[in-house]
Amino acid sequence: MRFEKQLFRKVGKAVHDFSMIRPDDRIAVGVSGGKDSLALLDALLHLRDHAPISFQVEAFTVEQGKFVRPIEPLRSEMDARGVRWTYERDEASFQLLEDEPRHGCDVCSRYRRRAVYDIAHRLGANVVALGHTADDFCEALLRNSMFTGRLAALPATTSSRSGDFRLIRPLVYVSEEITAGYCAEVGLPLTPCVCSFKTGTVRESLRTFLGTLRQSNPNVMDNLLAAMGRVDHTRLLDRRFLDTGSDAVSTDSRDLLPILAEETL
Ligand code: SF4
Repeated sequence: MRFEKQLFRKVGKAVHDFSMIRPDDRIAVGVSGGKDSLALLDALLHLRDHAPISFQVEAFTVEQGKFVRPIEPLRSEMDARGVRWTYERDEASFQLLEDEPRHGCDVCSRYRRRAVYDIAHRLGANVVALGHTADDFCEALLRNSMFTGRLAALPATTSSRSGDFRLIRPLVYVSEEITAGYCAEVGLPLTPCVCSFKTGTVRESLRTFLGTLRQSNPNVMDNLLAAMGRVDHTRLLDRRFLDTGSDAVSTDSRDLLPILAEETL
């Protein structure tokens, strides 16, 4: 069980590094039917059974009409684990599919988020665990840098906007190679969503780009993750974190302005 060991170790480290779980937490795990969220659920169940603190874990799935086949067979897996599974069809998402069949990820994820919070509320959860992996963190870093002009990835631990939930991403150190390997090892049935076959997206381009780089340097993703945890703000351009000697600049800048103006003519 090579992948199981890696999965459990890396999730344990993330939970510890980012103080993700606290005593008496009630954690709702969003299970999408894909390899990542199923691996996440198993890792949290393992942690629940071995951690020195007590917390609860349960699973839920939001049906948005995008699974390639019925996800109901997952119920036997949940029963085998003794975990309560709430499976709900989100009527608003189905309406969206009818009204705007070509809607983008921004709208889709907004609908999902609303449904997730609604279910988590009803479950009495105070924590929602999300299945974003190390791959997602690396892609988000590149996407934000190149397409939104922001040096940011995803928060490992944060609060929902309303403050009602702690949102945690315990797979931050886990690559999709590990989640895929784990699900194959354990024989978990996967139910992909139609979007996993989408081509020509920014996400797909970034995946291909990272995949190509990894062929010559297998550590590319580990290095990107390490970089997110070791920011050298003196070598970036965000003046909020730089001592630019503002007094000196404000005096000198008057002298500099005509020179700069001339240079731009
Ligand atoms: S990839 Fe598909 S399921 Fe995921 S947010 Fe985008 S539209 Fe929704």
